Amino acid sequence: MSLIETIVDSDQTEVAEIRFDAITGHRSLFSKKSFRANEVIIGFLAKAVHETPNYLTVQISEHEHIELFPECLECANHSCVPNCFFDTTRMEFVTLKPIAAGEEFTFFYPSAEWDMDRAFECNCGTDQCIGKIEGARYLSASTIAKYRFTDFIQQKLRSAGM
Ligand SMILES: [Zn+2]
Repeated sequence: MSLIETIVDSDQTEVAEIRFDAITGHRSLFSKKSFRANEVIIGFLAKAVHETPNYLTVQISEHEHIELFPECLECANHSCVPNCFFDTTRMEFVTLKPIAAGEEFTFFYPSAEWDMDRAFECNCGTDQCIGKIEGARYLSASTIAKYRFTDFIQQKLRSAGM
C-alpha cells in the first residue's frame, strides 16, 4: 500500500497529498503547490448527507452533515492557527493565508461545526491553542473574534447572541 496519495484538481494539477502514518494510522493533508491567501484549493461535493455529525463530516445546515468528496479533504486536521477554511456556501476548500508547497493544510474545526460529535483536547502546540475543541457553541467571544466561520455557523452564533 502506498503511503502517499496525490490529489489533482480538474486541470490535473497536483494540489495536495495525503500522508499516512502506518504506525499511528494518522492521516494528514499536505499542499503540493503554493497558494495565495483566499485562493480556492479545490471545490467539494457531498458524497453523502447525514442528519447527525460524525468525526469525518462537515456541517452545512442544522441537520445536514456531509461526507466530503474528494474524500481526501476529510484528512485535513484541526489547528488553532488554521491556514484553510471550508466555505460550505460556495462548497470550496480555500486558503486563509499564503501556503507553500509541502505545508500541511489545517482548518479550525469549530469554524464549520456547531456541536461536535467527538470533542478532543487539542495539541496543536501553537501559542493560540484554545485547548478543548467541541464546536462553535462553546467558544468565548474573544475566540470567536479571531476566526472565520461558515455562513451557517455565523447565523447560529448570531441567533445565540454570541
Ligand atoms: Zn490547538
